[in-house]
Amino acid sequence: MAGRVCQDPGCCTLLSIYNDMDYCSLHAPMVVPRMRGKVLND
Ligand SMILES: [Zn+2]
Repeated sequence: MAGRVCQDPGCCTLLSIYNDMDYCSLHAPMVVPRMRGKVLND
């Protein structure tokens, strides 16, 4: 489904259809350790 946006108030970043989270990468509640390359969202 397209058209989802970040749930953070005031943020209207569109979420990828492949992103199962409710927040964009800037507002995701969990802290992602810095790693080289892309982190797969399992
Ligand atoms: Zn956001």
